[in-house]
Amino acid sequence: MEELVAEFAKLPGIGRKTAQRLTYFLLKQPREESARLARAVAALGERVRACSVCGDLTESDPCAICTDPRRDAGLICVVEEASDVAAIERAGEYRGRYHVLGGRLSPLDGVGPDRLNVATLLARLANGSAVREIIVATNPSVEGEATAHYVERTLRARSPEVAVTRLARGLPVGGELEYADGETIAQAFTARRQFPGA
Ligand SMILES: [Zn+2]
Repeated sequence: MEELVAEFAKLPGIGRKTAQRLTYFLLKQPREESARLARAVAALGERVRACSVCGDLTESDPCAICTDPRRDAGLICVVEEASDVAAIERAGEYRGRYHVLGGRLSPLDGVGPDRLNVATLLARLANGSAVREIIVATNPSVEGEATAHYVERTLRARSPEVAVTRLARGLPVGGELEYADGETIAQAFTARRQFPGA
């Protein structure tokens, strides 16, 4: 029990008290319930991995979005984390594809450009690609903005024929895409803009 409480307490937003409540709750459930939870947790590590094309989390590689012929292959939306893909998909507005950077530039935490999945993004724009526009949808935070500008500069230097846009400012400054409602995300896509000086 102590071990499970300690594991729950490591999860984001879960303090020790909640971790204890969850553990007691599971104890009171039929055994099949906790077995199901254990299997789902184990399957996360075994079956879920990053898509080799876009970096989103998936059980099949390439992922369902990369292989869906109804999604516009000319549009790539660049996000920080896989959870941002889920948030944009919930909004239901966007019909292109994605690229997950796997983080944001943060010099204080030692996260430089080499730690982001930018090389794989450039590879997707190599000769003969159908991509016409890259929509940079990093978070409206200081690190998110710095990341957006880094991605924009890199893309412009390597693939000047591809348009690079940024989500509009409907998103709260300092907020996180993951927690924005669908309507706000949909509006930010519709009103996306050129980078200044582009
Ligand atoms: Zn993919």
